[in-house]
Amino acid sequence: MKNDAFKTLKNFDLGNGKQGNFHSLPALEKAGVGPISKLPISIRIVLESVLRNCDGKRVREEDVKLLANWNAKAPAQVEIPFVVARVVLQDFTGVPLLVDLAAMRSTVSRLGRDPKMIEPLVPVDLVVDHSVQVDFFGSGDALQKNLDLEFKRNRERYELLKWGQQAFKTFGVVPPGIGIVHQVNLEYLAKGVLQSPVSSQQSPVFYPDTLVGTDSHTTMINGLGVVGWGVGGIEAEAGMLGQPVYFLTPEVVGVNLTGAVAEGVTATDVVLHITQMLRKAKVVGKFVEFYGPGAKALAVVDRATIANMAPEYGATMGFFPIDEETVAYLRGTGRSDEHCKTFENYYKAQGLWGVPAKGDIAYSVDLDLDLSTVVPGVAGPKRPQDRINLNDLKSTFASLFSKTVPDGGYGKPADDLASKKVELSLTSENPTQNGAATIRNGSVLIAAITSCTNTSNPSVMLGAGLLAKKAVERGLKVNPAVKSSLGPGSRVVTDYLNKTGLSQYLDTLGFQTVGYGCTTCIGNSGPLHPAIEEAVTKNDLVAASVLSGNRNFEARVHQNIKANFLMSPPLVVAFALAGRVDIDLSSEPIGTGKDGAPVFLRDIWPSQKEIRDVMSTALSPEIFRKLYTDFASQNPKWNEIPGTVGDVFEWNKQSTYVQEPPFFTGFGMSAGSIGEIKGGRPLGIFGDSVTTDHISPAGAIKKASPAGKFLTEAGVAFEDFNSYGSRRGNDRIMTRGTFANVRIKNLMCPGTEGGVTMHNGTQMPIYDAAMKYAETKTPLMIFAGQEYGTGSSRDWAAKGTALLGVKAVVAQSFERIHRSNLCGMGVLPLQFPEGMTAQTLKLDGTETFDLLGLSDDIKPMSDVTLIIHRANGTEERVTLRSRIDTAIEVEYVRHGGILPYVLRQLLA
Ligand code: SF4
Repeated sequence: MKNDAFKTLKNFDLGNGKQGNFHSLPALEKAGVGPISKLPISIRIVLESVLRNCDGKRVREEDVKLLANWNAKAPAQVEIPFVVARVVLQDFTGVPLLVDLAAMRSTVSRLGRDPKMIEPLVPVDLVVDHSVQVDFFGSGDALQKNLDLEFKRNRERYELLKWGQQAFKTFGVVPPGIGIVHQVNLEYLAKGVLQSPVSSQQSPVFYPDTLVGTDSHTTMINGLGVVGWGVGGIEAEAGMLGQPVYFLTPEVVGVNLTGAVAEGVTATDVVLHITQMLRKAKVVGKFVEFYGPGAKALAVVDRATIANMAPEYGATMGFFPIDEETVAYLRGTGRSDEHCKTFENYYKAQGLWGVPAKGDIAYSVDLDLDLSTVVPGVAGPKRPQDRINLNDLKSTFASLFSKTVPDGGYGKPADDLASKKVELSLTSENPTQNGAATIRNGSVLIAAITSCTNTSNPSVMLGAGLLAKKAVERGLKVNPAVKSSLGPGSRVVTDYLNKTGLSQYLDTLGFQTVGYGCTTCIGNSGPLHPAIEEAVTKNDLVAASVLSGNRNFEARVHQNIKANFLMSPPLVVAFALAGRVDIDLSSEPIGTGKDGAPVFLRDIWPSQKEIRDVMSTALSPEIFRKLYTDFASQNPKWNEIPGTVGDVFEWNKQSTYVQEPPFFTGFGMSAGSIGEIKGGRPLGIFGDSVTTDHISPAGAIKKASPAGKFLTEAGVAFEDFNSYGSRRGNDRIMTRGTFANVRIKNLMCPGTEGGVTMHNGTQMPIYDAAMKYAETKTPLMIFAGQEYGTGSSRDWAAKGTALLGVKAVVAQSFERIHRSNLCGMGVLPLQFPEGMTAQTLKLDGTETFDLLGLSDDIKPMSDVTLIIHRANGTEERVTLRSRIDTAIEVEYVRHGGILPYVLRQLLA
């Protein structure tokens, strides 16, 4: 090992009679570099990476010293160069990333250099999980039919993945039909401790498993003591090409968990409680570390559920330290005994073993949660942090129904809640949707057991199965209006539901398995029954979905379902049985049993003991080993896909899925420059909480939208449009889809919904206006409110913005990943000073703007001047803060983005 600036390379006992090397944090402390044993565990794991990779170039000795002296109350405002051990991708983000790598190889090849110089330097695993849609449900063949359709729709994308598999040495693919990336990571990919390649001269060096993933919920793996979080695809690309992932030294919020959850309370209830609590505590951009006796007593699967929702509480991570529970989980999921012993010995040697107690570690902020105070709840109807006690859902829904839209309600006459009803007689090839159904406001139309947050946790999945069993035994049925589905995060779930005999009850209630993937959680809920869809839209009903997911932003779950409630899997089944959300399940029956007697939720709710009893027989390491080997041979449809071979991808100009993106058009070795903007025009003025899904939707493509028209002109039938998420390999579609969410509200066009703007007094789609502005070389700007770019990490939200010609985004505040992605695409993020908004400035879209104070010498976080030229001829100057936060981001913006920057570095 070449880097040992601090003489910290030591030996430890691998547990198999051999010794291994490691960069010892206790030795670093002994050398007097810093008070390391007092640092949060998560900071120490990052420090190990900084120490191990300290080569004086990418990582300097000063970086080690600064982090070793992390100050809890005032962390140094410096960027940490974090070299991660590996990268995980899901297919929505992974395909465009592979497209970019392929484009880099094409560019390098055109320059007459060896394309193989573009190669991931750390292992990269892509799990195909985001593409399966719920077209079929409620029948035993739904799984196969959905899988068949998935392969039909995505063949071109999968061909690209197969090319990537053979072109890059360190790029692995977990094919469709296996599971959800974070659950597959937890159950299989994560090793906990890794080792450098063994050579004849050197012994291997062991180091913590750390990663970044191109999906916000990468944080699930924090439950296993693995440091990692979601980044945009562009940052991940840089990471896999050997660039450190840079982030500002974070504050670490310590959450001391005490007590134990009460009877009837699930891990989902706990995470929804924590999400609400931590949102209030403003943990955005911070690490959260859970500790204390309550944390120690939690199983890894419960820790993982809590860690998973870090993006919803706004934190970079929701980290749990490593202890006996961690190693028990690794062993229980089929990792070898030898590996588990090495894992345990490594963390003991590093002084990183065990869940700390109060006072052991100095945190920036100290919070406490007594787990026994958590009560059952749901979250929604529009944001995951809006938790509602289960018993209050009825009254909350009724109040929101008639509350005004600006107050977060639906603005409907209160009487409509009970009185507006549509009677339907349904016929359908989906077996559960036949017969008479009444639909009204508050009707549950989608009930989905979905999302890695919950499907990775056997306690809530078995809880759903047990509740279904009791419901079936009492003779309860699901209303035909409900589209119910079960989307497990791995095949292990099916195995334990079968083994415990619970699958049959979920099946009886229509919760047949529809696919091993994200399904409804990512918005792939598929179409509603046409008669139901018509009834909802014609009558403008506020219909509901209930899902065990973690995101419920407008139009994410389904375009025509306005109220979306997150809840535990057993509650999803319960609400599917009740058929409506305006019900108080503590006092009203969930339905009528076959004996004619009312059945209440408490009658069918499984006890903790019942769940524990089935769990004890449900899981075995052998099953994990069996199901996580040789994916290709278990997936004949994947084998049928022909993959192109060669080092350079052969672009097919006719493809509507994969096109060479224009990021390297006119590429040369010299960087551009950061210059002032003159005569800028606004493309959009938005309010608060504009999500990445508003900016770059993942769901369905409307026929009349610019992307829909493009596909129609390319000869694609409407039923083959697929989703925006699946089209991310084609910049032509994604640019047209930018700001095309049907619910986005551009305040330049008051009273409208959807991606429209004004161009010279004419209202038109945002894409069309951007192309008109491009003809006149007019620089464009976006204005927005709080939390701009919140939601899933989505590099296309930044890529599309850049390709529309937007040079700067001015917001009150930015979501962490989206801000850095904007820099990564060469777009300037700028922030209003406290109290100033587009509204206080009375911007209406008729203005012209100049931005002064921009140059190559711009320092991070410096002030720039915005001059507003109003239509009436007046002028106003305001000061904005540049949110180019780090020196490396100045470089990215100067080079026109991270991709040209990295390519120039490699070529140089
Ligand atoms: S979309 Fe949902 S299920 Fe898929 S990775 Fe993200 S959180 Fe998990």
